[in-house]
Amino acid sequence: MTKYQILVVEDDAPVRNLITTTLKIHHYRYITAATGQSAIMDTASHNPDMILLDLGLPDLDGVEVIRRIRGWSNVPIIVISARNEDRDKIDALDAGADDYLTKPFSVNELLARLRVTQRRLALMQNVTAGQAVYTNGKLKIDYASGCAYIDQEELRLTPIEYKLLCLLARNTGKVLTHRFIMQNVWGNGWDNDVGLLRVFMATLRKKLEKTEDSPQYIQTHVGIGYRMQKVDEQIPE
Ligand code: CA
Repeated sequence: MTKYQILVVEDDAPVRNLITTTLKIHHYRYITAATGQSAIMDTASHNPDMILLDLGLPDLDGVEVIRRIRGWSNVPIIVISARNEDRDKIDALDAGADDYLTKPFSVNELLARLRVTQRRLALMQNVTAGQAVYTNGKLKIDYASGCAYIDQEELRLTPIEYKLLCLLARNTGKVLTHRFIMQNVWGNGWDNDVGLLRVFMATLRKKLEKTEDSPQYIQTHVGIGYRMQKVDEQIPE
């Protein structure tokens, strides 16, 4: 048994059973909820390590569930959406979700997302206030000196590129929306200029990635945003 307990929120019984069967086989502990209200109550009473949350619930919108839970909890939330519109995913991510799965999804995709989130949990638990160096594969960021390195070689980054890199690194494993990145790097008022973000992301990647065709570190989520991934763990989009 892993020590992780997962709250599965899904009103569709066959989908819920598929998920819980997968969790059981892979030795996760879980509890289930079929409505938004019970999801909020169960989060408060059981304090799960992760939440798998369907966005289309009978009583509350999934995005509203995220907003309410985020009022008092940082528990990682992976959104499951039948809807294919990017808008729903973006709203969920902006409300504080960590990742998303689009129905129909494979068992392997589900397990990959859980592993990434587990790693994030472990990272968050290890982060101490004084931690001054970030490492991911050959990438190293020395926050104290404000320098980043690949393979011991210093990257010549502009202040904006460095800020972008640090924001992505601090949120390794989490999908960040365009709007979230823009607000954190440039501040309010710039959050609609995705073209500007693309330009800086392209120059950052040119310095960071060995090959631009198959980026190792920064994963693109078309129409949604970007994610820094652990290099030893490629995540299916
Ligand atoms: Ca549903």
